[in-house]
Amino acid sequence: MDSCICDALDWQHAVADRSVVDAISRSMALVEFTLDGTVISANENFLRLMGYRAAEVQGHPHTMFLDPAQIHAAEYAAFWNRLRLGEFIQAEFCRRAKDGREVWLQASYNPVLDAAGQPYKVVKMATDVTLERQSAAGYRGMVEAISRSTGLVEFTLDGTIVCANSIFLETMGYSESEIRGRHHRLFVDPAEAAAPAYNSLWDRLRAGEFVQTEFRRLGKGGREVWLQASYNPIFDAAGHPQKVMKIATDVTADRQGAADHRGIIEAISRSTALIEFQPNGTIISANDKLLKLLGYEFSEVRGRHHRMLIDPVEAATPEYAAFWDRLRAGEFVQREFRRLAKGGQEVWLQASYNPIFDAAGRTHKILKIATDITDTVHQRQSTARLASLDALTGLANRRSFDDRLHQECRRLTRSHSSLSLVLIDVDRFKNYNDLYGHPKGDRCLGMVAEALRRGLQRSSDFVARYGGEEFAMILPDTDTLGAVDLAERVRGVIERLDLLHAGNPPFGMVTASIGVATSHAFEAMEDISQILLQRADAALYRAKDGGRNRVCGSTGEHPDQAAKGSEIQALTELRPG
Ligand code: GH3
Ligand code: MG
Ligand code: MG
Repeated sequence: MDSCICDALDWQHAVADRSVVDAISRSMALVEFTLDGTVISANENFLRLMGYRAAEVQGHPHTMFLDPAQIHAAEYAAFWNRLRLGEFIQAEFCRRAKDGREVWLQASYNPVLDAAGQPYKVVKMATDVTLERQSAAGYRGMVEAISRSTGLVEFTLDGTIVCANSIFLETMGYSESEIRGRHHRLFVDPAEAAAPAYNSLWDRLRAGEFVQTEFRRLGKGGREVWLQASYNPIFDAAGHPQKVMKIATDVTADRQGAADHRGIIEAISRSTALIEFQPNGTIISANDKLLKLLGYEFSEVRGRHHRMLIDPVEAATPEYAAFWDRLRAGEFVQREFRRLAKGGQEVWLQASYNPIFDAAGRTHKILKIATDITDTVHQRQSTARLASLDALTGLANRRSFDDRLHQECRRLTRSHSSLSLVLIDVDRFKNYNDLYGHPKGDRCLGMVAEALRRGLQRSSDFVARYGGEEFAMILPDTDTLGAVDLAERVRGVIERLDLLHAGNPPFGMVTASIGVATSHAFEAMEDISQILLQRADAALYRAKDGGRNRVCGSTGEHPDQAAKGSEIQALTELRPG
């Protein structure tokens, strides 16, 4: 301040010295006014600052730089009166630039006296302090805002409490008189206050270091309070720390929330298999539960593709590629998945794949949450298997026979192939039971079933217990000749079981009669399965009527096949019983 006044006075005295004027003019905004406030001249700095050309200000009143509200204020009139009386006025003034911009000037108005000591003009020397003013306003606003929302405490450098705002007092549960003059240690757990780290905190602050972190503090009565706080050393003009300002926010609730959160995640992690993938399927992380389930060490899966956990056949399908496309697109996928453990054993998982998004809403990773349901699935599968099996013989039961026949008939209508059905009926089995008893009859049926199972040639062939002492075979992609051939072999195998059956003359051992029917894709019938069954049954009757222990083909073939069918029938009926 004083130096400004000195500058102004110096300037008045050295007014004749051009070099001094030039120096001032280069660094400051200067304007000369008549005593009634009319602009005589203005230097380049002033014109640039206010956005005018010289001609626009010369001869114009000082009021052109004012807010209209200022012009009519009583103070403004008084201001010029004081200058006219020769008073020197210095202050910070708010002025308006040509474009209406607010300009803050640190300015002095200096009345210039004539030889008689009377003021005859006023020289204004000004410095632009708009930026300082604005940032000061900004800082003030900021401090006010912080104080409204944040706990503030001032300490001396040795940690003695000078003052605290109401938010801090409320957080800690103290009144100001209870803490003023006390040491900061009041808020610290005694164990922590005794540790070297605590003393070093104050050493660091005294050295001017800024310290910020989450602190555990004790409120009145020993209540735990978590503060997100910064300790800010405040420096004097010479740059020496003078005091410490602590800015603190109570984060106790967040901290408890975070602890809850962590607890939940830990609980989930203990009970659930977790694995994270990059959007391209690369494994990022996996918890112990998952690794144990799949039999891997983390080092064996890290950076590898999800593909390593699934059947290679499945991995090659378009469905698998589409699955990852869906996840990348942010879709949540949840169902049962079959996965392979390290040794190749299957593991069934009830799993959800959860895309995790970044702040921009892009999928940045995928979290899989899985539960091991292998036992359940295996149990379910065996239950399903049992439901489709015949208890006595272990062959497929009637229900699964019907399903399979319908399935194969549907497939036939799409193919250019043929489908054969073989019905096998044990000869004079009622007599067998009567002669040897039911339990032996059961064992006999078991052995026949085993012979039939062995008689199947292709993986697509299917055998079932059709009912009682009747069995059925479904032979896809097999024509009449092929089917009769197979049936003939089956008949031979049963015969060679060599099971004594005195009630089955003239054979004296267990035999079976067999009927064969074939359908071709070109027949395109509505109810192929029914027709096949009827034809095979009719053929079986003919085999019974023809003397048993023989194979008969169906006569109801397509016209082209009919002759052949009869031939086969004739041929097979010729075989000795
Ligand atoms: P055919 O040569 O005409 O077929 O004479 P069959 O005696 O075999 O024919 P029928 O239909 O008169 O008798 C079938 C017999 O099969 C009657 C039944 O006691 C016997 N049977 C059916 N299911 C079972 C079974 O599960 N166990 C036993 N032990 N016998 C069965
Ligand atoms: Mg029967
Ligand atoms: Mg029978």
